[in-house]
Amino acid sequence: MSYFNIDSIKDRTFDAIVIGSGISGGWAAKELTGKGMRTLVLERGRNVQHVTDYPTTLKNPWEFDHLGQMPKAVKDANPIVSRCYAFNEDAAHFFVKDAEHPYVQEKPFDWIRGYQVGGKSLLWARQTQRWSKYDFEGPARDGFAVEWPISYDDIAPWYSYVEKFAGISGNKDGLPQLPDGEFLPPHEQSCVEKYFGEQMAKHYNGARPIIIGRCAHLTKPNQIHYDQGRAQCQNRALCQRGCPYGGYFSSNASTIPWAQRSGKMTLKSDSVVHSILYDEKLGKATGVRVIDANTKEAVEYYAKVIFVNAAALNTNLILLNSKSNRFQNGLGNDSGVLGKYVAFHNYRTSISGEYEGFMDTTTEGIRPNSSYIPRFRNVFKQETDFLRGYAAGFGASRMTYNDRSGMGEDLKNSLAEKKYGNWRVGSHIMGETIPKETNYVALDSQLTDPWGIPQLKISVSYDDNDEKMIKDFHEQLTEMFTKAGFTNIKTNDIPNKAPGLDIHEMGGVRMGKDPKTSMLNKFNQLHACKNVFVTDGACMTSTATQNPSLTYMALTARAADYAVKQLKAKNL
Ligand SMILES: Cc1cc2nc3c(=O)[nH]c(=O)nc-3n(C[C@H](O)[C@H](O)[C@H](O)COP(=O)(O)OP(=O)(O)OC[C@H]3O[C@@H](n4cnc5c(N)ncnc54)[C@H](O)[C@@H]3O)c2cc1C
Ligand code: SF4
Repeated sequence: MSYFNIDSIKDRTFDAIVIGSGISGGWAAKELTGKGMRTLVLERGRNVQHVTDYPTTLKNPWEFDHLGQMPKAVKDANPIVSRCYAFNEDAAHFFVKDAEHPYVQEKPFDWIRGYQVGGKSLLWARQTQRWSKYDFEGPARDGFAVEWPISYDDIAPWYSYVEKFAGISGNKDGLPQLPDGEFLPPHEQSCVEKYFGEQMAKHYNGARPIIIGRCAHLTKPNQIHYDQGRAQCQNRALCQRGCPYGGYFSSNASTIPWAQRSGKMTLKSDSVVHSILYDEKLGKATGVRVIDANTKEAVEYYAKVIFVNAAALNTNLILLNSKSNRFQNGLGNDSGVLGKYVAFHNYRTSISGEYEGFMDTTTEGIRPNSSYIPRFRNVFKQETDFLRGYAAGFGASRMTYNDRSGMGEDLKNSLAEKKYGNWRVGSHIMGETIPKETNYVALDSQLTDPWGIPQLKISVSYDDNDEKMIKDFHEQLTEMFTKAGFTNIKTNDIPNKAPGLDIHEMGGVRMGKDPKTSMLNKFNQLHACKNVFVTDGACMTSTATQNPSLTYMALTARAADYAVKQLKAKNL
């Protein structure tokens, strides 16, 4: 049996193993290989190579069988993923289908996943904002969850490091609640977005800025981006198909091929990590057990250091399933908090309106970005009856319609001619949710997936804090829209909508100062198993309002730097 063959074991032994090849795993692969580590990247999904595996990227709208829409039968068979705005005919092949990867919803939760090389980095909307000092201080100040073991100053240089490589466009806005980064030139705001910003500056004395979104697009590439084989973004806004220019940051366009070029990376796709192996005598992890996605055969790989980057909830699953005599409730789980204090973002509600000005101006052309309202509630002091705050997206574009009156030739002509209506304005909430012990994930005791791995049971819901935040968003945005002279203002909340569709689930393996109440130390290292690092959303102690992936990238690069230094010092 090759299993016991010494050469075979040698072939399966690496310096480092990275579990997952998405946004955070890609960064772990790049950093570890860049520091000379022979690194195995394990990915449960199929291989997706940059450009060659983007089958829809150059298609015209009429070349799709269903003109870009999802057929009813597919929607009916996939009620969960169909609720995601990006699950359309051009990108459906990058999404997990409901029946193929079952999980247990103890409470309704729309779990949106991308299982392939690149993970969700092929699907994301690329919004990338830094956290501020107020976000890292939040739990300590407001008394929710546990204190972060790091401050903004600890992570700021790592934000700069990843921003320069990934390429982040943005404007230097000088806001204390949203620190500036290493920006490429910003996209432009539409005239109504600018107008709204001017009105808010006047009415709120600068306290409610409306800025252009900061996003991972090469608006003006630097040499480091050309070195990656990437080129300037062409503003096609077809990003979820995969971008043949590498115009936006994805693992596939950036970190994975970079790691590949080092000659130090072995990438194994179709490899479902079952669990992490722990050696009681050595007091550390020795490798991972993998199930081949197609043959379902089990095989083990070994390494000195393991990075777990399977995306927040799958990382929880892997650790919970990594049981040994020493860790009967999951690897590193001496505190008993593994799987608990899961939090997410509250994207449940939005507001819309119209503006009757700027009737001589239209929006033609496309921009893969929109405007952004940074958090303005409870930033410097507690001022509402709910904890923390919300940011919001904001966009304005001209409404178009066709005149459908008339008959025959007249009707044909008017249908062919686009007419412009008022400007349409809209904003959606991006609320911070409070990590609570009662929001948890666990392994189901009965049900397994097709690879024999226990299914994940998700028990996560909105709470009173979220409801109060939604009410405040409606009140504040209505006030702001009214002050700007917008009309036909409508709020749109769906109280029975399940959480999850924000796709920013976090926590369960949180960082913290005290091993009794947290899983990871300030370098994302398991307190109780020092050679295992968790740097995806599972590590997050709290969620802030910002889109999270930039912070995962920065934490990953920082942890990889520390891990290699510790290895060299023979501390791991
Ligand atoms: C439509 C959409 C829009 C989004 N917009 C934004 C945005 O604007 N800004 C933002 O910051 N974030 C956004 N996100 C979220 C963002 O994509 C995630 O935060 C990010 O991808 C998380 O990185 P990750 O490495 O943790 O996980 P992923 O990128 O999902 O990668 C995890 C990888 O691990 C693999 N894996 C899982 N389990 C196993 C296993 N057992 N064995 C082996 N491999 C495994 C998966 O197949 C996957 O490839 C969006 C997501 C979607 C879908
Ligand atoms: S908008 Fe830019 S990044 Fe997106 S698909 Fe077009 S060229 Fe690529």
